Order: sequence, then C-alpha cells, then structure tokens
Amino acid sequence: MLGTLAQWMRILGYDAVFDPTLGDHQLVRLARAENRVLLTRDRELARRRGLRLLFIDSEDLDEQILQVLSDLELAPDRSFSRCPVCNQALECLDPVAAAAQVPAYVAQTQKEFRHCPTCQRVYWRGTHWQQMEQTLARLGLSETQRFERQMPDLERKENGG
Ligand SMILES: [Zn+2]
Repeated sequence: MLGTLAQWMRILGYDAVFDPTLGDHQLVRLARAENRVLLTRDRELARRRGLRLLFIDSEDLDEQILQVLSDLELAPDRSFSRCPVCNQALECLDPVAAAAQVPAYVAQTQKEFRHCPTCQRVYWRGTHWQQMEQTLARLGLSETQRFERQMPDLERKENGG
C-alpha cells in the first residue's frame, strides 16, 4: 500500500490519487483515462503495458519519496499547496475568516491560513506543519534548502537512471 507516499506527494504539491478500494484493472483504467503515472509495489501490476508505470522498490518512505521525485524528474516547488487528506488544491483563507474556525491562540499567532474546499480543513504553520517541514528538510526538500541549494538531490538521477 502506498497511501502514505500518496499523502506526501500531495504535501509536495502533486495531484496524487489513492483509493485502496480499486482493483488492478480499475487502477490501470483510471491511470490511462486521467493520464496518470501508476505507482505500485506490485510486480505483476508493474508489467502492464500501455500506460506509464513506476515500480517502487523500497518499503522505506523517505526512499520512496526520493525515488518518485528522481525517476519522474520532479522538482517540487509547490509544497503545502494541496490537501494531504483529499488531494484538493488548497485556497488561501483570510485571517478574519480563519479566526472563526481555528483555536483562539492560533488566530492570534498565525497570519497565513489555507483552506481545503472539499473537506473544509484549515491549515496553518503550526506544529504539524513544522513536523512535515522537518521531514522535507531531512530529505533535502524544504523551501529554505531549495532556495539555498537548487535541488542537488536530483543528482540521484544520474545513478538511478
Ligand atoms: Zn481536504
């Protein structure tokens, strides 16, 4: 199951569908219909032809994220632009509007809010966001590191092919 990987691809700003109720045939059909790359750890499924497929080698999440970025030649530059829960693009939320939906101390201390039009969740740079930032930093993918180093992690591409 690659549900966690899908969530992280969304955190990085990519449109990632994950639906564990779909069978192999439905997954293949969906990937073709929507011109998606099918990510799988299933070797049988990875042999299908006529669609873009990426076999995920590792069980380790960090390695999975780096493999997808490297193999698909992605340079993530829209982190935190998509709802990790439902894959919807987030919208900016006015702090005044946000104040009605978040705890009082959050409304007082935060200035930037985003809102998911599908699940109505409100996101801000709180502890959860910081934890995600730390994970991105560990992978060399934080916004700060990107500006400083211009994506050297894609060097992996040279070796991995
Ligand atoms: Zn959502």
